[in-house]
Amino acid sequence: MWTYHPDLLATPVPRYTSYPTAADFGPLEAGSIERAIAGATGDVSLYLHIPFCEQICYYCGCNTGASGKRARVEAYLAALHQEIATVASLLPPSARVRRVAFGGGSPNAIETGEFLAIIEALHAHFPMGSPSFSIELDPRSLTSGWAQVISSVGVIRASLGVQTFAVHCQKAIGREQSLSMICRSVDWLRGAGVRSLNFDLMYGLPHQSEAEREDSLEYTRKLGADRGAVVGYAHVPHLVPRQTMIPEGALPGPAARFAMAAQAHATLVGDGYERVGFDHFALPHDSMARAVRQGTLRRNFQGFTDDQSEVLIGLGASSISGFPGLLAQNEKHTGRYRQLSAEGRLSASHGIVRTAEDQRRGALIEALLCNDEADIAPDLLGEVSERLAPFLGAGLARLDQGRLAILPDGLPYARVIAALFDTYRAQTKRKFSSAI
Ligand code: SF4
Repeated sequence: MWTYHPDLLATPVPRYTSYPTAADFGPLEAGSIERAIAGATGDVSLYLHIPFCEQICYYCGCNTGASGKRARVEAYLAALHQEIATVASLLPPSARVRRVAFGGGSPNAIETGEFLAIIEALHAHFPMGSPSFSIELDPRSLTSGWAQVISSVGVIRASLGVQTFAVHCQKAIGREQSLSMICRSVDWLRGAGVRSLNFDLMYGLPHQSEAEREDSLEYTRKLGADRGAVVGYAHVPHLVPRQTMIPEGALPGPAARFAMAAQAHATLVGDGYERVGFDHFALPHDSMARAVRQGTLRRNFQGFTDDQSEVLIGLGASSISGFPGLLAQNEKHTGRYRQLSAEGRLSASHGIVRTAEDQRRGALIEALLCNDEADIAPDLLGEVSERLAPFLGAGLARLDQGRLAILPDGLPYARVIAALFDTYRAQTKRKFSSAI
């Protein structure tokens, strides 16, 4: 079992879905995203953001809004279609789209016909290289009609927002969904041909007890989820105002959160799941578990992934695109996004040029988080040695001939150790969520 060292977890750190992180983005030179897309070659992945949900959960920090206003949804989708055409017109013929991911929000908050129209547009405009499709789904708005569409498109990976099966916790976070609703969703998705099914789960929720969190893991195993992401609830109402709906006094403290994370890890591994990075788990047959065994696990804006593409193009408001030399985020405000897209312009005016040094540090941070180890160049070792010493001294990491390894007891400290190599952290005042 892990050992709790509160002093080593005291500083909030990023989740490192990119390096530099979105907190370090600033204005980009005009034409940056266009030049990056025009220079993309080989395998390309697409991410499409659908910023709507039928019901908004109190804890949610995503860029999303209620889907009830149809005119707003239709205007957004028209802008998304325009952006698809604009981006595809810039992509060189040597590029091939190999993966398409839909996220949000909840992609199933739009109508099935609208979803199929987006799929048609992707095929009409992009050079598609038999891509695999994945989708994030809200069980509360999943229908048999959606299952048929998922089957007809050939979606093979799906992620269900579950979070907790405990009814009183669901009430406290504004996300009520019965066990039978989850069971029905699983049946539909399996029947539709989904081979890799993920459950998003949370610990650190209001009124959550250890026993109830264990129940949620038990249901996850019994329902046969191939993957599970077990993430600590990040209570940051100063950044996410809707979280003021969550009773702060009912949240577990840091030590209880640490114990919950440790217990979740022990339970899932005991149930036959393999650990993927610091907060994901996958059954041995799943492609994510295989990527871990083969040392090919990666980390991108969607979290841990087996996607090997160096280019991820984000479509839709707030989506982030990643290229070896550039990170660029689309306009977050859906109104401004719609306006720019309607004019045939790309809205990604914020981001950061990734220098060679950024790429070197980014590869190191990614290796530490994905493979638990990385070779550290002498100059970086000299830079971090003093701050690294407490982790080495506590038996959380080992340094051997310039190779830094995060030891099994050091897993909950992985992000903190990775952050030692982040030169931007000393410069930004932005607050991140708790390290555990
Ligand atoms: S369904 Fe997901 S994206 Fe939508 S509000 Fe809830 S947590 Fe956020």
